[in-house]
Amino acid sequence: MSSNNQPILTLVIPCYNEEAVLPETIKRLTLVLKDLLYQNLISKESKILFVDDGSKDNTWSIIQEHNSSNIFVSGLKLAKNAGHQNALLAGLMNAKTKSDCVISIDADLQDDLNVIKEFIQQYREGYDVVYGVRKSRDTDTFFKRFTAQSFYKLMRLMGVNVVYNHADYRLMSKRVLEHLTDFKETNLFLRGLIPLIGFKTTEVYYDRNERFAGESKYPLKKMLAFAFDGITSFSVTPIRLISVLGFLMFATSLIIAAYVILNKVTGNTVVGWPSLMISIWFIGGLQLVALGLIGEYIGKIYKEVKRRPKYIIEAELTSCTQKQFEKEFIMS
Ligand code: UDP
Ligand code: MG
Repeated sequence: MSSNNQPILTLVIPCYNEEAVLPETIKRLTLVLKDLLYQNLISKESKILFVDDGSKDNTWSIIQEHNSSNIFVSGLKLAKNAGHQNALLAGLMNAKTKSDCVISIDADLQDDLNVIKEFIQQYREGYDVVYGVRKSRDTDTFFKRFTAQSFYKLMRLMGVNVVYNHADYRLMSKRVLEHLTDFKETNLFLRGLIPLIGFKTTEVYYDRNERFAGESKYPLKKMLAFAFDGITSFSVTPIRLISVLGFLMFATSLIIAAYVILNKVTGNTVVGWPSLMISIWFIGGLQLVALGLIGEYIGKIYKEVKRRPKYIIEAELTSCTQKQFEKEFIMS
């Protein structure tokens, strides 16, 4: 905390080719920070950190310009486009040392800024993570709504713990960010990682608007890649499905064998058909079982190489020191 006991807040905004929205975004975010300052909810050292994710347009020069005229604006420029999640992480890691809490938000301001105050209030109540959750998806196109919701359902089905209808609009405390550094994986899916960290968390609900300018930087191709990354970074269920399929096929091969033998006995077959039928199913099943088994080991290796922390300690109580002991019991 800063000297006057108000938390230092940093807003982290990843930006990729956002020249169309940035000036307005900066204006609105500055107002939000000023407002929070007047209400004495945050420290005056609070900042907005724009991360330029290797934009090809004027994004960086807009950030530079405002940096020299606006005390709240700071910037970070990535050498090349690293993708939304990596740009966000770069911003979070940079902000970590300078702030008590960080809120990540997209540059297009689709997420409602009015709930930032509630984020801060929840943080001051002692919450370490505050998830911004969308109330409805009315403003989305049918397609986006359908794909996004299928995505959350699929993730849940695969055993990945994600907060429903929460994107990357969230508040995180300093200690959560410090623990985030222990997750050293390359395929970053922050939405799946933050729930793994733990601590006291809560949700704040809001309505999401449409992008007020510019276009989505997440075309279908990137969206699918992101979803695929999310699932394969957190779940070995797809591998297990192969094993299950193999066993099912193996079981089917037994039924088919019985059927084929029955046909053979009743003389209802042509020469070569029984052996062919049985081998196809039997070998097919055997191969899938074998593949699934190899997959299980690959799954284990994959979990090992991630080297994720196995636990995170929230607090520790130690017994009193020798000095305290003497003071308490011997001297008195
Ligand atoms: N973004 C980024 N790098 C990329 C793609 C996107 O930093 O490679 C940023 C983008 O500038 C925006 C945020 O990530 O601030 C979310 O992107 P967008 O709003 O286009 O996604 P959508 O809301 O359509 O899912
Ligand atoms: Mg957007």
